[in-house]
Amino acid sequence: MSGPPRLIGSEIYRRSSYGGRHPLAIPRVSLMLDLVRALGWLPDAAYIEAPMATAAELARFHDLAYIAAVQRAEVDRRVDPAVSERYHIGRNGNPIYPEVFSRPATACGATLAVVELLLSGSDAPAVVHSPAGGTHHGRRDRAAGFCYFNDPVLGILRLLDRGVARVLYVDLDAHYGDGVEDAFRDESRVLTISIHERARWPYTGTIADQGPTWRNLPVPPGFNDSELRFLIEEAALPLGKTFAPEVVVIQSGADALADDPMSKLALSNRALWWAVERLRALAPRTLVLGGGGYNPWAVARCWTGIWATVAGIEIPERLPEPAERLLRAVEWRHSLARMPAERWFTALADPPNEGPVRDEVAAVAAAALGTVKAPVRELEQRRA
Ligand SMILES: [Zn+2]
Repeated sequence: MSGPPRLIGSEIYRRSSYGGRHPLAIPRVSLMLDLVRALGWLPDAAYIEAPMATAAELARFHDLAYIAAVQRAEVDRRVDPAVSERYHIGRNGNPIYPEVFSRPATACGATLAVVELLLSGSDAPAVVHSPAGGTHHGRRDRAAGFCYFNDPVLGILRLLDRGVARVLYVDLDAHYGDGVEDAFRDESRVLTISIHERARWPYTGTIADQGPTWRNLPVPPGFNDSELRFLIEEAALPLGKTFAPEVVVIQSGADALADDPMSKLALSNRALWWAVERLRALAPRTLVLGGGGYNPWAVARCWTGIWATVAGIEIPERLPEPAERLLRAVEWRHSLARMPAERWFTALADPPNEGPVRDEVAAVAAAALGTVKAPVRELEQRRA
C-alpha cells in the first residue's frame, strides 16, 4: 500500500528572482503552483511548503567554506573578486541576488523533505514531485550553470544513507546532468542516465563517455517525440530494468521542449509526460524533480502536466477560464513573447511532434547499451 502523491513547493519563488535579464528572471514554480490550484488539482493535503535545508544538511555534499561563502553573499549582497573566482558566485550566470542562499537552500530542503516522505513507511507516497529541484549542475565547492547547490545529489545521498540499495537517476533536461553524474561515478548503488543536447553547454557528456555507473545520450538538434520514445524504450528502460532500482529519480527540466529558447531540441510536453510515466514503472518509489526551462508558459504547463500525470488527473483539451486568465497575465521580456502561441494560454498539452528516428539517435542508444551488460552483471554479482 502507498499513500497519495505529494507536491512540494515554496512561496520563496514568488518573491525571489535572479534579476535583470537573467534567463531565470521568470515565474516558474510560483506559476505552476498557481496553475495547478486554478485547475483545482492541488488539495491542501497533497501540498507541502518546503523547509530550507540547513548548512549541515548541505554539507553532506557541499564544501563547508563554499556554503559559508554563499550565505555571506546573501548577507553582503556582494563578494570579493577572489571569492567570486574561487566559487563562481557573481559570475558565469550565477548572480548574487537577495535570496542567493535561501532560494537554492529551499530547493534542497524541498527535495530532502520529500525523500523522507518517500521512506516514511507503509503509507508513504509512491511518488513525490519537487518542481523546484533538479539543480543538477551544482558542484561540491562551486556554483555552475545557474545552480548553487545540487539537490538531486543531496536527495540521492539521503536515500543511500537511509539504506536504499539502488537509485536510478534519469536526467531529461536539455543540458547534461554533469554535477549528478560526477558525484556518483564511483558509487555502484547509483546509475545515472542523461539525455541531453549534444555540443551544448557544458559540452561534456559525449557519446564516448559511458561507464559502469553512468550513461550519456547526447542527441542532435530537432530531437523529436518519437526519438525520445525510442531512447526511453531502447536504452533507459532496459538499463533500468537490469539495474532494478528501489527508487527512480527523474530530473524533468523543461528546456528540451520546442518552445524553450535555450535549446534546439523539439519535444512536446506530452513526450516528457509519457517518459515520466514509463520511467516511474521501473521502481516502487519515484521522486520527480524540475530542472531548466526558460519559457514561463512552457515550464508551468509542462510541470503542471507532470503533476497531473503522477497524480492520475485527466488533462482537459482546453483550459478552463481561470487557468487561461492566469496564463494570459504572465509577462515575459523575450522576443518569443511578442508573438505567443495561442495554446500557451488555452491548452496544457502541446501538439505531438512525431518524426523519424534518425540514425544518429539510434547510434546513441547503441552506445549507451554497449557497455552495460558486463558492469551490471558485475553489480549483480557483488549484490549476490
Ligand atoms: Zn537545462
